[in-house]
Amino acid sequence: MSNVQPLVAGNWKMNGLKSSASELKTLVDKLNAEPVSGVDVMICPPATLLLAFSALVEGSKVKLGAQDCHTEASGAHTGDLSAEMLADSGAVAVILGHSERRADHGELDRHVRAKAEAAWRAGLMAIICVGETEGQRKAGVTLDVVRRQLKNAIPDGATAANTVIAYEPVWAIGTGLVPTAEDVKQVHGVIRDELAARFGDEGRGMRIQYGGSVKPGNAKELMSIDNVNGALVGGASLKAEDFLGIIAAYKS
Ligand code: PEP
Repeated sequence: MSNVQPLVAGNWKMNGLKSSASELKTLVDKLNAEPVSGVDVMICPPATLLLAFSALVEGSKVKLGAQDCHTEASGAHTGDLSAEMLADSGAVAVILGHSERRADHGELDRHVRAKAEAAWRAGLMAIICVGETEGQRKAGVTLDVVRRQLKNAIPDGATAANTVIAYEPVWAIGTGLVPTAEDVKQVHGVIRDELAARFGDEGRGMRIQYGGSVKPGNAKELMSIDNVNGALVGGASLKAEDFLGIIAAYKS
Protein backbone atom coordinates (compact mmCIF):
# COMPACT_ATOMS: atom_id res chain seq x y z
CA MET A 1 0.00 0.00 0.00
CA SER A 2 1.55 3.23 -1.09
CA ASN A 3 0.27 5.25 1.87
CA VAL A 4 1.86 2.93 4.42
CA GLN A 5 5.22 4.18 5.66
CA PRO A 6 7.54 1.15 5.62
CA LEU A 7 9.67 0.12 8.59
CA VAL A 8 13.13 -1.38 8.21
CA ALA A 9 14.08 -2.90 11.57
CA GLY A 10 17.31 -4.67 12.52
CA ASN A 11 17.13 -7.60 14.93
CA TRP A 12 20.56 -7.98 16.49
CA LYS A 13 19.46 -11.13 18.37
CA MET A 14 22.06 -12.20 21.00
CA ASN A 15 24.82 -10.18 19.36
CA GLY A 16 26.47 -6.98 20.46
CA LEU A 17 28.53 -5.55 23.29
CA LYS A 18 29.11 -1.97 24.40
CA SER A 19 31.75 -1.74 21.68
CA SER A 20 29.04 -2.31 19.03
CA ALA A 21 27.92 1.26 19.65
CA SER A 22 30.35 2.21 16.87
CA GLU A 23 28.10 0.46 14.29
CA LEU A 24 25.05 2.28 15.58
CA LYS A 25 26.96 5.55 15.55
CA THR A 26 27.94 4.99 11.90
CA LEU A 27 24.30 4.29 11.06
CA VAL A 28 23.08 7.43 12.85
CA ASP A 29 25.80 9.64 11.36
CA LYS A 30 25.23 8.41 7.80
CA LEU A 31 21.46 8.83 8.04
CA ASN A 32 21.98 12.33 9.45
CA ALA A 33 24.37 13.21 6.63
CA GLU A 34 22.25 11.62 3.87
CA PRO A 35 18.65 11.49 5.07
CA VAL A 36 16.37 8.87 3.54
CA SER A 37 12.72 9.89 3.64
CA GLY A 38 9.61 7.73 3.40
CA VAL A 39 10.91 4.93 5.60
CA ASP A 40 11.18 4.38 9.36
CA VAL A 41 14.37 2.83 10.74
CA MET A 42 14.78 0.79 13.92
CA ILE A 43 17.48 -1.22 15.65
CA CYS A 44 16.53 -3.91 18.16
CA PRO A 45 19.70 -4.62 20.14
CA PRO A 46 19.99 -6.93 23.13
CA ALA A 47 18.23 -5.33 26.13
CA THR A 48 21.60 -4.79 27.83
CA LEU A 49 22.40 -2.10 25.26
CA LEU A 50 19.10 -0.23 25.15
CA LEU A 51 19.94 2.39 27.74
CA ALA A 52 23.34 3.28 26.27
CA PHE A 53 21.98 3.20 22.72
CA SER A 54 19.04 5.46 23.56
CA ALA A 55 21.48 8.30 24.20
CA LEU A 56 23.17 7.63 20.85
CA VAL A 57 19.99 7.73 18.75
CA GLU A 58 18.45 10.75 20.45
CA GLY A 59 17.28 13.30 17.90
CA SER A 60 18.03 10.95 14.98
CA LYS A 61 15.83 8.95 12.63
CA VAL A 62 16.79 5.69 14.31
CA LYS A 63 14.37 4.27 16.86
CA LEU A 64 15.03 1.40 19.26
CA GLY A 65 13.15 -1.82 19.80
CA ALA A 66 13.53 -4.82 22.09
CA GLN A 67 13.36 -8.52 21.24
CA ASP A 68 10.92 -9.97 23.79
CA CYS A 69 9.05 -9.03 26.96
CA HIS A 70 7.27 -10.65 29.90
CA THR A 71 3.51 -10.32 30.23
CA GLU A 72 3.59 -8.83 33.75
CA ALA A 73 4.66 -5.27 34.55
CA SER A 74 6.81 -6.37 37.50
CA GLY A 75 7.15 -9.19 40.00
CA ALA A 76 8.89 -12.43 40.87
CA HIS A 77 10.09 -13.50 37.42
CA THR A 78 13.84 -13.97 37.68
CA GLY A 79 15.69 -13.11 34.50
CA ASP A 80 12.69 -11.65 32.70
CA LEU A 81 12.13 -8.08 31.56
CA SER A 82 8.80 -6.29 31.46
CA ALA A 83 7.58 -4.13 28.62
CA GLU A 84 7.60 -1.22 31.06
CA MET A 85 11.32 -1.79 31.74
CA LEU A 86 12.08 -1.85 28.01
CA ALA A 87 10.13 1.37 27.47
CA ASP A 88 11.97 2.90 30.42
CA SER A 89 15.28 1.96 28.73
CA GLY A 90 14.38 3.70 25.47
CA ALA A 91 12.55 1.09 23.38
CA VAL A 92 9.48 2.16 21.41
CA ALA A 93 8.73 -1.33 20.09
CA VAL A 94 9.29 -4.99 20.85
CA ILE A 95 9.63 -8.01 18.56
CA LEU A 96 7.29 -10.80 19.69
CA GLY A 97 6.91 -14.41 18.64
CA HIS A 98 10.14 -14.56 16.65
CA SER A 99 10.61 -18.13 15.41
CA GLU A 100 13.77 -18.46 17.51
CA ARG A 101 11.75 -17.73 20.65
CA ARG A 102 9.02 -20.10 19.51
CA ALA A 103 11.67 -22.83 18.97
CA ASP A 104 13.99 -22.12 21.93
CA HIS A 105 11.40 -21.18 24.54
CA GLY A 106 8.26 -23.00 23.41
CA GLU A 107 6.39 -19.76 22.81
CA LEU A 108 2.90 -20.33 21.43
CA ASP A 109 0.51 -17.91 19.79
CA ARG A 110 -1.36 -17.38 23.06
CA HIS A 111 1.87 -16.30 24.75
CA VAL A 112 2.61 -13.91 21.90
CA ARG A 113 -0.87 -12.49 22.19
CA ALA A 114 -0.47 -11.85 25.95
CA LYS A 115 2.93 -10.25 25.35
CA ALA A 116 1.47 -7.97 22.68
CA GLU A 117 -1.11 -6.78 25.20
CA ALA A 118 1.70 -6.14 27.68
CA ALA A 119 3.63 -4.22 25.04
CA TRP A 120 0.64 -1.96 24.34
CA ARG A 121 0.09 -1.44 28.09
CA ALA A 122 3.64 -0.04 28.26
CA GLY A 123 3.17 2.08 25.15
CA LEU A 124 5.34 -0.14 22.94
CA MET A 125 4.51 -1.12 19.37
CA ALA A 126 4.34 -4.91 18.95
CA ILE A 127 6.19 -6.42 15.99
CA ILE A 128 4.46 -9.80 15.77
CA CYS A 129 6.28 -12.48 13.77
CA VAL A 130 4.54 -15.19 11.79
CA GLY A 131 5.82 -17.69 9.25
CA GLU A 132 5.90 -21.31 8.23
CA THR A 133 8.63 -23.90 8.74
CA GLU A 134 10.24 -25.70 5.81
CA GLY A 135 8.12 -28.77 6.51
CA GLN A 136 4.93 -26.75 6.54
CA ARG A 137 5.81 -25.10 3.23
CA LYS A 138 6.59 -28.48 1.67
CA ALA A 139 3.30 -29.83 3.00
CA GLY A 140 1.47 -26.96 1.30
CA VAL A 141 0.01 -25.54 4.52
CA THR A 142 1.82 -22.16 4.58
CA LEU A 143 -1.32 -20.07 4.25
CA ASP A 144 -3.19 -22.10 6.90
CA VAL A 145 -0.27 -21.70 9.32
CA VAL A 146 0.03 -17.96 8.77
CA ARG A 147 -3.75 -17.43 9.05
CA ARG A 148 -3.83 -19.39 12.32
CA GLN A 149 -0.89 -17.44 13.75
CA LEU A 150 -2.48 -14.12 12.84
CA LYS A 151 -5.81 -15.13 14.36
CA ASN A 152 -4.36 -16.38 17.61
CA ALA A 153 -1.34 -14.13 18.18
CA ILE A 154 -2.82 -10.70 17.43
CA PRO A 155 -5.03 -9.36 20.23
CA ASP A 156 -8.26 -7.49 19.56
CA GLY A 157 -7.54 -3.78 19.48
CA ALA A 158 -4.59 -3.95 17.10
CA THR A 159 -4.10 -0.73 15.14
CA ALA A 160 -1.74 0.49 12.45
CA ALA A 161 0.10 2.45 15.14
CA ASN A 162 0.47 -0.25 17.80
CA THR A 163 1.15 -3.33 15.65
CA VAL A 164 3.46 -4.41 12.84
CA ILE A 165 3.35 -7.89 11.34
CA ALA A 166 6.60 -9.52 10.23
CA TYR A 167 6.22 -12.40 7.79
CA GLU A 168 9.32 -14.52 8.29
CA PRO A 169 9.42 -17.94 6.64
CA VAL A 170 11.43 -19.90 9.24
CA TRP A 171 13.43 -21.68 6.55
CA ALA A 172 14.60 -18.33 5.14
CA ILE A 173 15.98 -16.98 8.42
CA GLY A 174 19.76 -16.92 8.48
CA THR A 175 20.00 -19.39 5.59
CA GLY A 176 20.49 -17.18 2.54
CA LEU A 177 17.33 -18.72 1.09
CA VAL A 178 14.54 -16.36 0.03
CA PRO A 179 11.06 -17.23 -1.26
CA THR A 180 10.20 -16.24 -4.81
CA ALA A 181 8.66 -12.81 -5.32
CA GLU A 182 5.42 -14.59 -6.27
CA ASP A 183 5.37 -16.49 -2.99
CA VAL A 184 6.08 -13.35 -0.95
CA LYS A 185 3.33 -11.53 -2.84
CA GLN A 186 0.86 -14.32 -2.21
CA VAL A 187 1.51 -14.57 1.55
CA HIS A 188 1.60 -10.80 2.09
CA GLY A 189 -1.65 -10.49 0.14
CA VAL A 190 -3.32 -13.06 2.36
CA ILE A 191 -1.98 -11.33 5.49
CA ARG A 192 -3.37 -8.00 4.22
CA ASP A 193 -6.76 -9.57 3.55
CA GLU A 194 -6.87 -11.12 7.03
CA LEU A 195 -5.86 -7.84 8.71
CA ALA A 196 -8.39 -5.83 6.70
CA ALA A 197 -11.18 -8.33 7.42
CA ARG A 198 -10.55 -8.22 11.16
CA PHE A 199 -9.37 -4.64 11.76
CA GLY A 200 -10.85 -2.67 8.85
CA ASP A 201 -8.96 0.50 7.96
CA GLU A 202 -6.46 -0.13 10.76
CA GLY A 203 -5.67 -3.49 9.17
CA ARG A 204 -5.33 -1.90 5.75
CA GLY A 205 -2.80 0.57 7.21
CA MET A 206 -0.79 -1.93 9.27
CA ARG A 207 2.78 -2.53 8.17
CA ILE A 208 3.65 -6.03 6.96
CA GLN A 209 7.41 -6.56 6.96
CA TYR A 210 9.18 -9.33 5.12
CA GLY A 211 12.01 -11.05 7.03
CA GLY A 212 14.42 -13.82 6.06
CA SER A 213 17.88 -13.31 4.51
CA VAL A 214 17.22 -9.73 3.40
CA LYS A 215 20.50 -8.29 2.09
CA PRO A 216 21.51 -5.12 0.24
CA GLY A 217 21.48 -7.15 -2.98
CA ASN A 218 17.88 -8.40 -2.75
CA ALA A 219 16.25 -5.60 -0.74
CA LYS A 220 15.04 -3.51 -3.66
CA GLU A 221 13.24 -6.41 -5.32
CA LEU A 222 11.70 -7.65 -2.07
CA MET A 223 10.64 -4.18 -0.88
CA SER A 224 8.89 -3.44 -4.18
CA ILE A 225 6.48 -6.39 -3.85
CA ASP A 226 2.81 -5.52 -3.15
CA ASN A 227 2.03 -5.30 0.57
CA VAL A 228 5.69 -5.53 1.63
CA ASN A 229 6.05 -2.55 3.95
CA GLY A 230 9.66 -2.84 5.02
CA ALA A 231 11.87 -5.57 6.40
CA LEU A 232 12.88 -7.31 9.60
CA VAL A 233 16.58 -7.93 9.15
CA GLY A 234 18.82 -10.22 11.20
CA GLY A 235 22.43 -10.81 10.11
CA ALA A 236 22.65 -7.88 7.69
CA SER A 237 21.64 -5.41 10.41
CA LEU A 238 24.80 -5.98 12.43
CA LYS A 239 26.99 -3.97 10.08
CA ALA A 240 25.93 -0.39 9.45
CA GLU A 241 27.03 -0.51 5.80
CA ASP A 242 24.88 -3.57 5.05
CA PHE A 243 21.89 -2.18 6.89
CA LEU A 244 22.25 1.14 5.06
CA GLY A 245 22.36 -0.83 1.81
CA ILE A 246 18.95 -2.28 2.68
CA ILE A 247 17.49 1.10 3.71
CA ALA A 248 18.75 2.38 0.34
CA ALA A 249 16.03 0.30 -1.32
CA TYR A 250 13.80 3.24 -0.38
CA LYS A 251 16.00 5.90 -1.99
CA SER A 252 14.34 7.40 -5.00
C1 PEP B 1 15.44 -12.55 11.68
O1 PEP B 1 16.02 -13.17 12.54
O2 PEP B 1 14.41 -11.92 11.97
C2 PEP B 1 15.98 -12.58 10.32
C3 PEP B 1 15.21 -12.22 9.35
O3 PEP B 1 17.28 -13.00 10.19
P1 PEP B 1 18.17 -12.97 8.82
O4 PEP B 1 17.96 -11.63 8.19
O5 PEP B 1 19.59 -13.16 9.30
O6 PEP B 1 17.68 -14.08 7.97
